[in-house]
Amino acid sequence: PSSQPSEVQAAMAGHVPETSMETSPTPIQATAVGAGGEGPFWQKMIADNPYFSAGAGLMGIGVALTALRRATTLGATFAQRRMLVTLEIPSKDRSYPWFLEWMSSQSPKPAAIRDPSSSSSSTPTSSPAATVSAETPRGLRSLWKGKSPISLRSHELAVETTYKQHENGSSEAIFNLVPGPGTHYFRYRGAWFQVKRERDSKLMDLHSGTPWETLTLTTLSTSRHLFAPLLTEARSLAEASTEGKTVVYTAWGVEWRPFGKPRRRREMGSVVLAEGFAERVENDVRGFLGRAKWYAERGIPYRRGYLLHGPPGSGKTSFIQALAGSLSYNICLLNLSERGLTDDKLNHLLGLVPERSFILLEDVDSAFSRRVQTSEDGYKSSVTFSGLLNALDGVASSEERIIFMTTNHFERLDPALIRPGRVDMQELLDDAVGEQAQRLFVKFYGYGPGEERVWREGEEVLSPEEVLAMGQEVGTIVDEEKAKGRVVSMASLQGLFIRSGAREALDGLVLALSIPLLALL
Ligand code: ADP
Repeated sequence: PSSQPSEVQAAMAGHVPETSMETSPTPIQATAVGAGGEGPFWQKMIADNPYFSAGAGLMGIGVALTALRRATTLGATFAQRRMLVTLEIPSKDRSYPWFLEWMSSQSPKPAAIRDPSSSSSSTPTSSPAATVSAETPRGLRSLWKGKSPISLRSHELAVETTYKQHENGSSEAIFNLVPGPGTHYFRYRGAWFQVKRERDSKLMDLHSGTPWETLTLTTLSTSRHLFAPLLTEARSLAEASTEGKTVVYTAWGVEWRPFGKPRRRREMGSVVLAEGFAERVENDVRGFLGRAKWYAERGIPYRRGYLLHGPPGSGKTSFIQALAGSLSYNICLLNLSERGLTDDKLNHLLGLVPERSFILLEDVDSAFSRRVQTSEDGYKSSVTFSGLLNALDGVASSEERIIFMTTNHFERLDPALIRPGRVDMQELLDDAVGEQAQRLFVKFYGYGPGEERVWREGEEVLSPEEVLAMGQEVGTIVDEEKAKGRVVSMASLQGLFIRSGAREALDGLVLALSIPLLALL
């Protein structure tokens, strides 16, 4: 037994310096106890041995620290569970862009940097968000820093660029700085929020080609009630930016995406239609919108279809735009002969329309004129007639659905498409009649007594009465020619009036109608 203590001593002496925090005391105790069983003797030895007691002391501290650390972690997790609330917003969710925009709006001026440049590109484009992270140029960062409550700890920004080309040729780029992937903090109504914007490197949104992202908002559970007003505020902000405007959505894969910037609403008065036409359709839509309960009580799908037909350039699309504007609706525009559109996608899209939106299916005849559409490069459109009918009938949902369809070739439509339930109201928009042409003329050139009018260079200055008289003349000509089978579309009249002064237009009209119509187009 005499050799044992020295072994233990040696072992202990060797181990002491390394045994700091993590080493468990168990094997050492086992060695000590297993070595002899002469308890009191060993206890004395251990107690008397300075190395051993130092080691034991250190081990004790180690164990205590480990336990403390565990407890802290557990405590933190527990606290996190009990005291913090998190809200997750995936990039698929509608409130995702609203929230990002809201965050960036918290630093109004610095978030948008304008860069007038003389680039010659002609189309406005919007580039996907590019990340400005740690290498953010100092200029950008300092613009952001200190001016926004969000920015206090935001070093990861992303830029969303809007590029605009003005009519005079100059161009402008606006860089909107939004919080980039990373962690940010902001204060809202006195409470601190943490925002984590995380990008999934594996999951991609295949249709937009952007990585899947999530925003996670964390705050104290006592502030959980602030989530709702915060999101409402973000939503109102997003809506304010489209107020008085019409958003046009187009199909992007299997979802609807705003196409370009929201446009200014088209005034109903700017579309010159047959007397009473606009009111008739608008009243019908309003009537439908007020009858949700009526439909629900009868178990009828809450939807209504409109078909506008007539020659090209008669104002079908323009009227639908104006109607959407007057009802504060947006438009989901879909062309059935679009590439890559399949029956399934169509069905899916029609079931996923953003709220307060009309669906506008343009040139419905072209997509299913019995023969399969084949474009020059051999591409075949793949929406079938039965696919369209299925999509129109869809799974009955209680959500409202208003579909407008337009066609230039009413006669080509299959009767199955226009039966009630699919098309509940059909209206013809024809070529110009005299009265319409007259109204359009007066809209372009007319002015009231005492009103200012800007005259073009070289244009004959006319009195309001003279313009009215000429308008009447235009109307008479159009009617007379129509009786002879020579028609003119509203679009071509508009084209003529844009190009010419009043007198010129009148002369041009006579000339154009006396030779084939194409001269006007
Ligand atoms: P459609 O859809 O019937 O082919 P659009 O609505 O696209 O015709 O019209 C083409 C152009 O002609 C637009 O610029 C529009 O402003 C003009 N236009 C056509 N019809 C009218 C009309 N009735 N009143 C005023 N402008 C019209």
